[in-house]
Formats: sequence, structure tokens, C-alpha cells
Amino acid sequence: MRRELFHALQESCHPVAFTGAGISAPSGIPTFDMQWKGMPVRDFLSREYFSSDPLGFFELFSVMAAWRNQQPNAAHLALARLGLPVITQNVDGLHQKAGSSKVIELHGNAAMLRCRACGHSEDSRLLVGALPEELDRLVYCRVCNSLFDIDVVLYGDPLRDWEQAIAETMQADLLLVIGSSLTTYPANQLPELAEHNGARVIAINKDCERVLEDL
Ligand SMILES: [Zn+2]
Repeated sequence: MRRELFHALQESCHPVAFTGAGISAPSGIPTFDMQWKGMPVRDFLSREYFSSDPLGFFELFSVMAAWRNQQPNAAHLALARLGLPVITQNVDGLHQKAGSSKVIELHGNAAMLRCRACGHSEDSRLLVGALPEELDRLVYCRVCNSLFDIDVVLYGDPLRDWEQAIAETMQADLLLVIGSSLTTYPANQLPELAEHNGARVIAINKDCERVLEDL
């Protein structure tokens, strides 16, 4: 696999990476199959749930905000060193932390709390470790007291920067699909699009770190 990848990268004029949860797992970030209150976390990541139980939602979101404190691993660092544009389904910001300059975040990111009413924003890590009774206060804008929103794309929201992701994919002559099971529509359309456009597609799902390290 490493040899194949090495040659493919050497032959490519415009390689692009498309990454999913698998690349961040070695950094200690769980996938959306993780359980939360006895159910898969993905069941809580909907606009509907956010609206119906904002405090319950932010209790979960405070866990996601803590992911911002994790460190990129060898796979993130390799992509940054190779200078590959990255299209990612992840919200943890680890590609940017690794030094990648072009990162298209299809599902947004967990970095900030945003007040849609007055434009005030706060670092989401404000919520990390807060007790439920503290959350009750922290999730409201301290300027205008509106409920904060987040930049993570929830089920029921449109994808972020989708046009840009398509444009980047259309330019690629090599697409590395890393740590993504490609189960999420429509992000799973990108490899198909690349292939259709004549690009080579290589999937790396196991041992991303070891495969990409020092390439
Ligand atoms: Zn506000």
C-alpha cells in the first residue's frame, strides 16, 4: 500500500485528500458511532434535536468542543507536509492544527459558539467541563442573551462549501480517500465524481497513520 501510494503521489500533478473520522481516531477522537446516553451520537446531531432540547444538545457539544484540545497525528501531519488540499467530514480542526492551509470542512467545525442575533462569538472550549447548571448560563450570548448556535453542520442542515469541494475534486488527478467509510450522502459522491472525471482514487481505511507516515 505504501509503495503504491508513493508512486501514485509521484505521478500526480494535483492530488487531493478526502478524509473522514478514521484519520482522527488515533488522535483520540471517537467516530459518530460513539454512544451518548445509550444511543449513537449521530442520533443527537440533528437540527431537530438541537431545537427541541438545546441544553441536552450543548451537553453533548461540550464533549465535541474538547476535541479541539487533541493533537494531530502522523497522518494529518503527512498530508500537511505533502501540501495536499483537504476535503474533510471532520469537525475537529486537526488538519489546520497540522499545518494544512487548504481545508474544506463539509460538516463545519466545532471551534466556535455563534450568536446569530448580534454576531458575538466565543471559543467553544468555554463549555468544556461545565456542569449542567453552568451550561444553562454559558449557552446564552452574554451580549444579547440569545441562545448560541454552532458551526457544525447537523442533519437537516445543508453541507458547507459543497461547491468548493466539487471544484477541488474536479481538479484532482488523484483522490486519496482516508478514514472514511463513505456512508454519508452526499459526501460519498466525491470519489465517484473524481473517478468519473478520470482521476485515480485510492482508499486508505486501515492504519492511516502507519500508511501515511513519512511519505
Ligand atoms: Zn448575541
